[in-house]
Amino acid sequence: MIIDGMADRPLEELGNKTPLEAAKTPKMDHMSQLGVNGIMDPIKPGIRAGSDTAHLSILGYDPYTVYTGRGPFEAAGVGVDVMPGDIAFRCNFSTASADGIITDRRAGRIREGTDELADTLNSIELEEDVEVIFKESTGHRAVLVLRGKGLSDQVSDADPKHDGKKFKEVFGLDGSLEADATAVILNKVIKKSYELLKDHPVNIERMENGDNPANIILPRGAGAVPEAEPFNDKYDVKSACIAETGLIQGIAKIAGMDVIEVEGATGGVDTNLDNIANSIIKNASLNYDFILINIDGADEAGHDGNLKEKLEFIEKVDEVVGRIMEIEDLYFILTADHSTPISVMDHTGDPVPLVIKGPNLRVDHVSQFNERAAASGGLCRIRGSDIMNILMDLMNRSSKFGA
Ligand code: ZN
Ligand code: ZN
Repeated sequence: MIIDGMADRPLEELGNKTPLEAAKTPKMDHMSQLGVNGIMDPIKPGIRAGSDTAHLSILGYDPYTVYTGRGPFEAAGVGVDVMPGDIAFRCNFSTASADGIITDRRAGRIREGTDELADTLNSIELEEDVEVIFKESTGHRAVLVLRGKGLSDQVSDADPKHDGKKFKEVFGLDGSLEADATAVILNKVIKKSYELLKDHPVNIERMENGDNPANIILPRGAGAVPEAEPFNDKYDVKSACIAETGLIQGIAKIAGMDVIEVEGATGGVDTNLDNIANSIIKNASLNYDFILINIDGADEAGHDGNLKEKLEFIEKVDEVVGRIMEIEDLYFILTADHSTPISVMDHTGDPVPLVIKGPNLRVDHVSQFNERAAASGGLCRIRGSDIMNILMDLMNRSSKFGA
């Protein structure tokens, strides 16, 4: 169970405690007393992990080989059946003027009708033997997948990043034929998106209502869909994932895990933690050997620099932890994927606390679950990539190295 971005740095306003040290977390503390504790570097000491690369590492994949960009995981997360070799991009629906100036990168924060726009974009046919797959995500966000031979993810972004600038011509980044060919295709797709969307009924209605039309797509964050050994084969388990964001769901899908949707899971501090807890308890009693859980709200509060929300959210998550602790006969690991300190408002490379509760553990003396208390526990300091090995060994499911 990964509480996204929960770990933090000491804050003067908390008497030099971290939010996790200051929050009232009786259940997590009880778990520390019953378990074996340590701190973890999601990738390695001092490396600032993204949520995606941290999760890959924790699941036993080398992020430096598997991770080529955020696009593939976003695409899998919104339900595109990506295949190894596909080139995936994150996109914005944006508003462009006839001369290509982007007047609103978020197309008036469009919320409805993007599925119809995506349907239209899926009709794009290219003279090259490349398939164009387009899928809307939340709000103005979407994904684009190019499928075909001779493609590369070494291409630049079209998104100018600021309103009032012309969208950028995409170019190959590494001088390869594949990158140059992919850039040509992408430029065509962007141009066609404007032709197809500028007079689309959804946009006509938007303009009549005084809203900015979503008349162009701006791809960025190209990545090649990796060849990842299915998690279930790697560890001989049946696995599932309960996560709130498309990014983490996408990682689970690319790893071949079952993805369980929870109603009311928003990825924010307003998420329905009760539904999440119920789903965890229900699925833990089904025939899964392994469930990856990600709860996102603490990270959001960290990015917003909102201490009050972070403290409150940690205390609410404590209740969920208490309920999962009641499930018998399982190993329960509680940790974070990285620190998102209030003072930094972004991820840092600080290690995160980790506790394992379950049968036959060498229980240590740690009595509180937080960044500093956990550091003196029996696990000492480990890396994200150690977790699956430790878990498989505790479950007597690992193979011996040597005679
Ligand atoms: Zn994260
Ligand atoms: Zn984050």
